[in-house]
Amino acid sequence: MASSSSYTNSPCAACKFLRRKCMPDCIFAPYFPPEEPQKFANVHKIFGASNVSKLLNEVLPHQREDAVNSLAYEAEARMKDPVYGCVGAISVLQRQVIRLQKELDATNADLMRYACNEIPDSHFGRRNNSGHGTGSGGSDSFGQNSGLYFSSPWNNVDPCGDSTRERGSEGNM
Ligand SMILES: [Zn+2]
Repeated sequence: MASSSSYTNSPCAACKFLRRKCMPDCIFAPYFPPEEPQKFANVHKIFGASNVSKLLNEVLPHQREDAVNSLAYEAEARMKDPVYGCVGAISVLQRQVIRLQKELDATNADLMRYACNEIPDSHFGRRNNSGHGTGSGGSDSFGQNSGLYFSSPWNNVDPCGDSTRERGSEGNM
């Protein structure tokens, strides 16, 4: 925020690190304030100051801040994990997303099963309560009695019909 005053007061983190005079048109100054010396130190160690300068000159001015933030993030990750860098963090997060998605799917399937079993048998005389869809023709009456089980945002389809279809019975397709 104090980037304009930092031209005159003190050199930017890059120029201070490189021990050179920080000129008013310094390309590093807006993105490497003197208060964050480690940011430039990391980026310089991993990418090299001249490469960063070249890259900043190639991208449009409004993209430079994002570019620097990305470089700083990648450099920091590379310092912490020299082998994988930020790819390590990304793959950990991707595995986490996959694991949580499976957990969510399993929980949703459980919810649907419980929702189907909650329906009293007296309303569906021809349907046995085991939930395995021999009586899958009754999907219309499910829609009419939808107040018996709570509707959830993730199932726009009939919950009982969907869960039996997932379980591998060929149904009415
Ligand atoms: Zn500078």
